[in-house]
Amino acid sequence: MKQDIIKFDNNIYQIDVFMENKPGRMSCYYIDSANPLLVEVGPSNSFPYLVSSLESIGISEVNRSAMTHLHLDHIGGIGHLVEKYKEHFVYIHELGIKHLPNPERLWKAVSEVYTEEWLSTNWGKIKPTPVKNIHSLKDKELINLGNGRKLEAIYGPGHAKHHYTFYDEYSKTLFMGDTLGLIYPHGNFVQPNLPPPDFNKELLFNTLDELNKLDLKYLALAHFGMHENPYKLIENAKENIEEWLIFINNLNDISEESALVSIKSWVRGNYEFLNIDESTINNYINNANFEMQIKGIRNYLFNKKNP
Ligand SMILES: [Zn+2]
Repeated sequence: MKQDIIKFDNNIYQIDVFMENKPGRMSCYYIDSANPLLVEVGPSNSFPYLVSSLESIGISEVNRSAMTHLHLDHIGGIGHLVEKYKEHFVYIHELGIKHLPNPERLWKAVSEVYTEEWLSTNWGKIKPTPVKNIHSLKDKELINLGNGRKLEAIYGPGHAKHHYTFYDEYSKTLFMGDTLGLIYPHGNFVQPNLPPPDFNKELLFNTLDELNKLDLKYLALAHFGMHENPYKLIENAKENIEEWLIFINNLNDISEESALVSIKSWVRGNYEFLNIDESTINNYINNANFEMQIKGIRNYLFNKKNP
C-alpha cells in the first residue's frame, strides 16, 4: 500500500490523488465492501495516481463510482475511468446525463473562469462518458454496497446546485464533497469554499442542518481527508461562512484586486491569531482560490439584494 493511502475502519481507503502534482489537495475514497464503490475520481491529470494507488491495494477493476458534483476537480477523470474499466457505472446528479457524454460545453464554461491553458496544464482534458455508463441519482436513493450495507445519496445544494453527499450508515461516514469547505492536514477548522455561480448561504445552511441530524463518526472531505468531530466541524463551517460574508459585504464596491489583498491578509491574520503554524497557513492561503471566493460571495450578495 502506498504511503499516501490511509485505511480506515470498515474498509474505507482514503487515496491522495496528487491534484496539481501536490500532496494533500484532493482525496478520493474507495469503499471496499462486498459490492465496492469509488467516491470521486479527481481531475484527469490525477488519474494515473488513482490507478496506481488502487493497484497498490490489489484493486485492478473498478465497476462503480459515485461523484459528489460536476466540478472538474472532482469529475475531470470520469471519461478516463469509464474508458479503462469497460463495465463501469457512474452515479451522479442528473445534469451529468446532459454534460458528460459531450463535455465540450462544460469544458468551455470552466475555461472561461480558469482559462483553457491553466485547465489543460493543471487538471487536464476531459474525455466523454457514454450515456449508458451514467446513472442519474435521486434524493435519498440507496446505493447497494453489499451484505446489507447501503450508501444513501443525499441531495445537498448550496456549494453547487448539482451536489450530492453520500452517507454510509454502517461506518457512520459522510462523504462531503465540497459541502463543508476545506480542511487541510493539521487543520482543525474549516475554510469556506463558496464559488460562483451557485453558492447560496440559505441553501447551504439547510443542507448542513439536514446532514447534522445524521448519526456521524467521520466527515470525508474532498479537500482534504477524513475528519472526526463531525458536529463541531459543521458548526465551525457555518460560523466561518457567516464571518466571510460579513467581511466581503463590508468591503462594499472596492475592486476585486483590492478585495483579494484584503481578504488574504484578514484570513492570514485570523490564523496567526489562532496560533496555526506557518506551513499550514500557507497551505490554506495558497490553495484557497480567493478570487473565486470573492466572486461567489459577491454573486450571492447581489442576487439576494436583487431577487
Ligand atoms: Zn472541489
